[in-house]
Amino acid sequence: MGRILSLLPAGFLALMLISCSQPQKEIREKLYVFGTLVEIIIRDADEDAARKALVDVNAAFQKMHRDWHAWKPGEMSRLNQAFAEGRTVKVSPFLLPLIKQAKGFEAASEGLFNPAIGAMVAAWGFHADELPKGAPPPKAKIAALVKAQPSMSDVVIRGREVSSTNASVSLDFGGFAKGAALDQAAVILKAHGINNAILNAGGDLNVIGTHGDRPWRLGIRHPKNWGVLASVELKPDEVLYTSGNYERFFEHEGVRYAHILDPRSGWPVDHIVSASVIGKIGAAADAAATALTVAGPKDWHRIARRMGVKFALLVDDKGRIYLNPAMKARIKLEGKETPELVVSPGL
Ligand code: ADP
Ligand code: MG
Repeated sequence: MGRILSLLPAGFLALMLISCSQPQKEIREKLYVFGTLVEIIIRDADEDAARKALVDVNAAFQKMHRDWHAWKPGEMSRLNQAFAEGRTVKVSPFLLPLIKQAKGFEAASEGLFNPAIGAMVAAWGFHADELPKGAPPPKAKIAALVKAQPSMSDVVIRGREVSSTNASVSLDFGGFAKGAALDQAAVILKAHGINNAILNAGGDLNVIGTHGDRPWRLGIRHPKNWGVLASVELKPDEVLYTSGNYERFFEHEGVRYAHILDPRSGWPVDHIVSASVIGKIGAAADAAATALTVAGPKDWHRIARRMGVKFALLVDDKGRIYLNPAMKARIKLEGKETPELVVSPGL
């Protein structure tokens, strides 16, 4: 969360609708959620219905920004305060489903996706709109946070009453909140009778329906040059999420520290990688893309299987691409060079 304007061009590049004809009327709107720009394109819709839908989506985004934000005052920060003090809190029906989703993602990812490590993310300085500056936090501080073993399995849910058996648990849903936000926005659009649309948050996307008489065709962004690595067609209601440690990071004495942490060490993921996932639920694909970034080229396949991912693609710092056959069958490489492909069956 807290993505800032410097990343905006990525969204436009990655969207690259590679479109030619535009006979259909399109309604375009840009809204913000968690400081990230979301570009919404609605097609083939009644203009009044579309405008009303966008007002509702905007209101939902503002509520999410307030209630799901990991470090700005709101329901989430009050809940984290209660965990630290050992108190039980009655959680709103708006936040509760996310807490349940977060538990599932952590368990399925063998803890590589851990939305309870908010204190670690904060210690690294990523709970701020601006990127951190200066030296990394003291090793002992990070080691103590790892030793406390914050986990979603410490979070106890009874009806709407939520507590934590571990005071070090601090929820940070930054790894899947964007996906959850786009999932809800898609539901709102559909409820207003919108049958064809795309929601693009800096290259993380949910689509509804089709682009005229063909599928939505999109670019998977290249981790290094922000161009398009490959194009892919998304079926109605599919989603595409990319995560990587090349994106939001700071450098100190020549070392890069990224905002995706390995919960086992408390340190930023050190292999350079980006992971893209096609799925049907934005929140799940967003969580999986983050988890696969942590897993890296060595462990991505096992974690993808466990998380139920059917289409995954990773790119390492050598430009090597790791993917499963079903993903390979769906992409068209767009770069000039022919990258090395490492294809692993079995997802
Ligand atoms: P982006 O928002 O740039 O697409 P991600 O979806 O990968 O990136 O989310 C990164 C955010 O997830 C971090 O800013 C932090 O809030 C949180 N996070 C970092 N490491 C982890 C992790 N191992 N598990 C779950 N969430 C994480
Ligand atoms: Mg993510």
